[in-house]
Amino acid sequence: MPSINVPVVHCRHCGQEYTTNHIGRHEAKCLHDPEVFARVRAALDDGTGGCIRIKDYEEITRNAGNTLPWQQPLISRLGSWAGVAHHFGLRPYVSARAAEDAEIWSAHPTLTPEERAAALWSELAPPTFRVSRVQEDEIYPGLFRCVLR
Ligand SMILES: [Zn+2]
Repeated sequence: MPSINVPVVHCRHCGQEYTTNHIGRHEAKCLHDPEVFARVRAALDDGTGGCIRIKDYEEITRNAGNTLPWQQPLISRLGSWAGVAHHFGLRPYVSARAAEDAEIWSAHPTLTPEERAAALWSELAPPTFRVSRVQEDEIYPGLFRCVLR
């Protein structure tokens, strides 16, 4: 079988080798290109220096033609969505719930996970209920079940 030699060229920004039919697509999204970096950073910025949610970036990317890399290659390359935020000099995205959780942790640093779960639930439960029992899930360690009365 004859071998087909596809010409190879180097990306002008990162130096990686690409075939001539893939170089254009790569260079349009190469993060080593300062223009691409700035474009991605602007898309990720929530306006306060924080990173937006993955699904919001996905939405922006879908509507950006072919000008932004998809979230999955970014995550694969940079380790996590927080890693993506860090790479672009942004604060990682924190959900409102995780922020609340962190607040309870910092307000009560000596709580056991069970006490913390009870504290969380007593803030979320209607005032006529109280947490009567907390137990760690046997199948999903780290998850706690709260019984309300
Ligand atoms: Zn490149």
